[in-house]
Amino acid sequence: MTDFAAVLLEQDAEGKTAARLTRLSESDLMQGDVTLAVRASAVNFKDGLAVTGRLPVVRRWPMVPGVDAAATVIASNNPNWLAGDEVILTGWGVGETHLGAWSERMRVSGDWLVRRPKALSPVEAMALGTAGLTVAEGLDRLRRHGVTPADGPVVVTGAAGGVGSMAVMLLAQEGWSVTAVTGRPEEAARLLRLGATEVIGRDLFAGPVKPLARERWAAAFDMVGSAVLAHVVSMLKPGGVAIACGNAAGMDFLASVAPFILRGVSLIGVDSVRVPAARREEIWRYLADVVDHDRLAAMTRTIALTEAVAAARRIVEGTVAGRTVVAIND
Ligand code: NDP
Repeated sequence: MTDFAAVLLEQDAEGKTAARLTRLSESDLMQGDVTLAVRASAVNFKDGLAVTGRLPVVRRWPMVPGVDAAATVIASNNPNWLAGDEVILTGWGVGETHLGAWSERMRVSGDWLVRRPKALSPVEAMALGTAGLTVAEGLDRLRRHGVTPADGPVVVTGAAGGVGSMAVMLLAQEGWSVTAVTGRPEEAARLLRLGATEVIGRDLFAGPVKPLARERWAAAFDMVGSAVLAHVVSMLKPGGVAIACGNAAGMDFLASVAPFILRGVSLIGVDSVRVPAARREEIWRYLADVVDHDRLAAMTRTIALTEAVAAARRIVEGTVAGRTVVAIND
């Protein structure tokens, strides 16, 4: 293939981001010891930030967005990889500082790759993608803190979105009673089918944050940040743990210290971009083992590369439900 299709982001003199589907050539690819034919990617919130320029996640121009890839190795100078190997790549700055996966071809460091488990198709691997990795990391933090389903229910905010739906599904599979919080009541039936015990609106998380509110949950997975996370922390049971995953409502966090010093709660952040390589192997084995293929399919929509930019604009508006996979060479 002399040239190949890719989405390209460029920034104009005023700092405005423009996105277009174009053709690139092998010489446009970046440094790396492994060349990939991308089979599928996904639309993550970070891709939405990159395409709209809402936050400065892109730190190299021009950029190809797409932080997740399921791909086939087509050439390798890395001792761990051979042509024909099926791999997964998430994070490591791809789509931010290194050309991303909304492209038929990528060249990357072989150290960033994980072997795709046979139980997962490229589309399933991307339905899980960064969302699956993030939730699996969060689950591990809960275990390490000794918080279990016996301690009480878990709350998931931003539940109808990609990471939120993933959290609902995986937490329910792990035996948690899950309260799903969504601003979209029309998504309630889908969240209940994914395993939520109850679905509630956002009202509980509006208004002024009390230092200590009624104790409700043993754990939380928060996709939203800002005042919502502050409310969540104020409602944790003593010893409870909140996993901070996202910033869909904003980067700020104006909370009281009361829950930390009077209830001993913990707030733990997850950064899926820099999860160590060895840990990723474990996570993908875990995800391949536990995932319910029917539920995963029910929370996933597959689109073409031509539709990815529009989907990225919708994700930052909070109107995308579940996960969106971008089929590329598959
Ligand atoms: P989605 O857009 O799919 O989901 C975000 C959800 O948040 C929305 O669907 C909506 O849920 C809710 N939401 C959006 N705006 C608001 C608001 N103003 N107030 C309250 N709720 C709101 O994105 P993703 O699921 O892909 O990502 C979620 C967050 O997690 C993002 O901030 C993303 O950057 C972050 N993230 C972090 C990772 C990490 O490594 N820490 C990895 C991946 C993602 P509903 O309609 O149900 O209310």
